[in-house]
Amino acid sequence: MDLSIIIPMFNEAENAEHTLTRVGEALVSFNGDYEIITVNDGSTDDTLSVLEKIAILNKKIKVISYPMNIGRGMALRKGFQESKGEIVVSIDADLSYDPQYIIDLVETLKKEPQIDFVLGSPYMPGGGVQNVPLLRLWISKLGNKILRFALPNRIHTSTGIFRAYRRKVLDSLELESDGKEIHIEILSKALALGFRVKEVPAILTGRKRGSSKFKFKKTATSHLLFSVFEKPMMIFGVLGILALGVGLLIGLYVAYLWFLGKLTPGRPLITFAILLILGGIQILSFGFIALQILTLRKEILRIQKENLELKDQIMTIGKGKG
Ligand code: UDP
Ligand code: MG
Repeated sequence: MDLSIIIPMFNEAENAEHTLTRVGEALVSFNGDYEIITVNDGSTDDTLSVLEKIAILNKKIKVISYPMNIGRGMALRKGFQESKGEIVVSIDADLSYDPQYIIDLVETLKKEPQIDFVLGSPYMPGGGVQNVPLLRLWISKLGNKILRFALPNRIHTSTGIFRAYRRKVLDSLELESDGKEIHIEILSKALALGFRVKEVPAILTGRKRGSSKFKFKKTATSHLLFSVFEKPMMIFGVLGILALGVGLLIGLYVAYLWFLGKLTPGRPLITFAILLILGGIQILSFGFIALQILTLRKEILRIQKENLELKDQIMTIGKGKG
């Protein structure tokens, strides 16, 4: 199988048929064997029955379904597990990205063997956004700006679903996110493993039918936490240096007063300066410890990947002998 397209769906009865038609049309020009895997993430509307009807008529469409709504992370993981393609594309069910771009992403992987996964990117130069509610767009852009500093590569769009992966990337990752944070989990782990990423410009359009499942509080918290885990010094470094700096400045001022002979020994300012200096050092130390843990975590990921590769090699040798 050359290509698998994964489409997670939660209450997308209004979109399912139209989206699958459009994806099918986009793939007419695709030269190879493909499958479309739809994952019903515990919808409470007719999504499942709509999908099952379409799948009977079109053998390229597969349906995975489970009864509880867990989140798009779970839906994508299930889809990845079932997929057989050498290249795996994920896209959302509301045509936020024109399926014509699927070919662009796949072609990039075909033409550039050094690239392991490709991101459809509305926020990079050349990309764009249409009809997305302003507040939502602003939050998303701000989040992506923060993540741009947190991640090792300077990525413009790290929260998008629209991507193409080589099989080996997905096979090397142990993914655990249930929600939208799966996109950054994949990026973080894949980059830590040394896989190479490329962004390709794409236009993101606001959803036309059905309602967005975006949950602000949950998404903001998970993404901010992720940023801190990924780059602990973003918080600990800034806060630590700030406390230390202010503490030292106050200390200098106190020393100056003492030099002039104007210092009242009992002044709370002295205690405050000492507290700030000690606190600053403490916060910075937390940052260093977090950094060490991060390095260890990435080292473990790398070892996991090497284990998988070794396992593969042993299997191939075994098959050769058998
Ligand atoms: N989705 C899902 N489970 C959920 C929430 C969303 O499978 O719990 C799917 C949804 O059907 C869509 C994709 O994930 O195909 C992205 O969701 P949505 O378009 O609502 O989010 P947005 O594009 O606004 O971030
Ligand atoms: Mg969407």
